[in-house]
Amino acid sequence: MSRLVRPMVLAALAACCGAALAAPVDKAPQGQLPDWAVPQSYNLAFKVDPTQKDFSGTTTIKVKLTRASDHVWLDGSELNVSKVTVTDASGKSQPGKYVSVEPKAGVVRVDFGRTLQPQEITLAFEYTAPLNAQLQGLYKVAAKGKPYTVTQMEPISARFAFPGFDQPGFKTPFDISLTVPESQTAVANTMQVKETPAGDGWKTVTFAQTVPLPTYLVAFAVGPWDIAAGPDIAPDAYRAKPLQLRGIAASGEAHRMQHVLSETPSIIHALENYYGFGYPFDKLDLLAAPDFSAGAMENPGLVTFRDWLLLLDKDSPARNVRASFNVNAHELAHMWSGDTVTLNWWNDIWLNEAFATWMQQKVTMQVHPEYRADLDRVDGAQMAMANDSLVSARKIRQPITGNGDIETAFDGITYEKGASVIGMFENYVGEKTFQKGMRAYVQKHKFGNAVADDLVSAIATAAGKGDAFKHAFNSFLNQTGVPYIATKLEQQNGKTVLHLSQSRYLPVGSAGDAQRIWGVPVCVRYGTADGSKVACEMLDKSSGSMVLAGAGKSTWVMPNANASGYYRFSLDKQALGSLVGQVGKLSDAEQLAYADAVNASFQHGDLDAGDVLTALQPLTTSKTREVATAPLDQIQWIYQNLASTDAQRARLAGWIKAAYLPRLQQLGYQRKAGESESDSLLRSSLASSLALDFKLPEVRAALLKQGEAALKPGADGRLNLAAADPDLLGDALGVAVQQHGKSAVDALMAELPKTSDPALRNGMLEGMAMAQDPAVLEQVRDFSLTKPVKVGEMARLLKEGRDTPAQRDALWQWFTAHYQPILDRTGSFAGGRLPSLAGKDGCSKAEVDRLQAFFQPRLKDAAGVDRGLAQTSEKIELCSALKEKQDASAILR
Ligand SMILES: [Zn+2]
Repeated sequence: MSRLVRPMVLAALAACCGAALAAPVDKAPQGQLPDWAVPQSYNLAFKVDPTQKDFSGTTTIKVKLTRASDHVWLDGSELNVSKVTVTDASGKSQPGKYVSVEPKAGVVRVDFGRTLQPQEITLAFEYTAPLNAQLQGLYKVAAKGKPYTVTQMEPISARFAFPGFDQPGFKTPFDISLTVPESQTAVANTMQVKETPAGDGWKTVTFAQTVPLPTYLVAFAVGPWDIAAGPDIAPDAYRAKPLQLRGIAASGEAHRMQHVLSETPSIIHALENYYGFGYPFDKLDLLAAPDFSAGAMENPGLVTFRDWLLLLDKDSPARNVRASFNVNAHELAHMWSGDTVTLNWWNDIWLNEAFATWMQQKVTMQVHPEYRADLDRVDGAQMAMANDSLVSARKIRQPITGNGDIETAFDGITYEKGASVIGMFENYVGEKTFQKGMRAYVQKHKFGNAVADDLVSAIATAAGKGDAFKHAFNSFLNQTGVPYIATKLEQQNGKTVLHLSQSRYLPVGSAGDAQRIWGVPVCVRYGTADGSKVACEMLDKSSGSMVLAGAGKSTWVMPNANASGYYRFSLDKQALGSLVGQVGKLSDAEQLAYADAVNASFQHGDLDAGDVLTALQPLTTSKTREVATAPLDQIQWIYQNLASTDAQRARLAGWIKAAYLPRLQQLGYQRKAGESESDSLLRSSLASSLALDFKLPEVRAALLKQGEAALKPGADGRLNLAAADPDLLGDALGVAVQQHGKSAVDALMAELPKTSDPALRNGMLEGMAMAQDPAVLEQVRDFSLTKPVKVGEMARLLKEGRDTPAQRDALWQWFTAHYQPILDRTGSFAGGRLPSLAGKDGCSKAEVDRLQAFFQPRLKDAAGVDRGLAQTSEKIELCSALKEKQDASAILR
């Protein structure tokens, strides 16, 4: 099933045309490695002591040469290779030469010293390397003063841990062994098979051979880990043996993993039932990493997470409990999409991430229907649509032109747009049919690789659809943008006909071209005498039409039924007028689509701020939290960027107060015994928005009380953080920090190093970040670069303080003055996010200019800076254009 048959074809060509083809491969490969040297298996031996600065390793790779060569290309970064041995198929060994050709990208050439004919050879490397300080490769972290090492290889950081063919199309078995101090615990992707003394206080732990994996899924960890046994996951129709489940955390913490361990079996069973394919690895460990760059990583058999996602107890914030389930389900979904069937190259990362996102939502809907993952999908799609409305947006299948395209591929387009597009076509062919296609796809490509066409064809075959279907699906994968659907009702021969047309959605100020065609499965809901009906049509030309059976002349139309389509629809004042009275009859998902249409129309210049207030008002009374709070962000944008007088701000704050304060007061400011998580989450979002965005004095007073109680030291000198409601801790501390300034921030800075609980740490960091006094804010920002703040926590301290131009100027001054230390701490994984960190929420031409002037000469500092710069600049430009276009006086109408 593997796509590694391709090299044979090229080898035949090379044999025929010799020199003509040989020359170009001698240049360092940009992007993919050449395919005439194919790894067959790896043996990785590491010697790791987390208390040291460096580690050492021996890597042995069997490589199949499919053409004669005196060298191979592979990947290695920051490795000090002391010895390379090249052994040919007859067993003859000789020293090779390790040449780091492009150190920054990690491109390496190994010279054999003679030409070898096509055959299987063995390359053995001995090397040392630093334990990475930027959370990449094999990296070092500390918890309660004790050091640990963890790995994060995806996407292209395995090269920091061992030399290899570091791209996903090369899948081979791995044999891993770890030599570690006797007192330490070592874990890896597979079960331990052996432990032997290695002398001088060391031991060697050997693990079972893996099934074929790409380098980016190799994982291991060393340290004084604490291990909690979970329940074995019982066999089922698709898996004959019980599956061993464990939780792994820093010393003393694993007992807090009982909740996530108890939730895991239901996730595994749901996935096995969907795919009709048993969990294919020999055990399952969930590891809480004390510091981590992403949210979690789907290493087969050893899934790694940010610690706050796994370490939970009864006082954990509701949002952490929910995120824990959802992220776990996402990572476990990868065991099939990603780990069993792997993308062939990074332009198809959506085959991993879009499917894991979509599948997580399906699992959550099944196991925890009250989490409303159906609405999360709509919300995620809408965030993706906002980004996809930029001219600088990525495609789902963005061509990879360099490492920056790989590092920035893990964005909302890949995850949320991808999941939404999958959901749209699943809705179009039917859930059962789609499942049949997915099962066939996994069977066909198990333990191998796949490309987009493999997946699209599997679904088309299951659905009995041909090229038109594939063309429609591909129109969303291979071009950027959001379809903008306009509708118009007409009576024709006694029938009610809905005319449809499509273009690209572009907000005011966009330089994009609106002419673009997708194959859009459009589904509309419309009013009938006895309720409503749904009609669907594949719109694959610039215009089309559908007959609305049973519709009256002046029926209302909701152009995105069940919000299942990845598109926006236009809403002029007239269409809005006929729909606004029907909002209560729409489903929750449709009400969210309606809120997005109001937002899209405002940004398109078709509605003004007064229209927005009228249109969104009916949503605020919804019983469903996601719907009721949907207007908050839109009103907040108007409050922050458009309102220019006290009267205008007072009108907006008054609107918010009337809509939400009674509800918040009814919920109260403390979690009640037995209340739903949804109530806890509603309390948290309302309190946060009303106190910190709209500054309602009543709400600020209630939070201040909690914040002051939390800051009051006990007899032991420690803060009393439990005095605040766990869902409100960050905001309560934030209000206290705004009120008391330096003394509050000093207290939090002193407390942070003494606190290991990740939820409490996050609350303290959020609170500090909300400082308003410029000097205090600068103190907080300086603190973000110091050791007590983990690398993965930095961003929390830097995300606030952007509301006004003066605040953004202060942040800009600080960022540009501290650019180098920021880059040194996060550059290897956050290049694409640096421009946003510096300029996000800007809304003027001057802010674009200074951002460009600063970053243009620094595009090469870290992978992805160019895309981050283009997107942040465009967002600021669009904000500025919208501000100019919209009339603030409409707020008071
Ligand atoms: Zn993922």
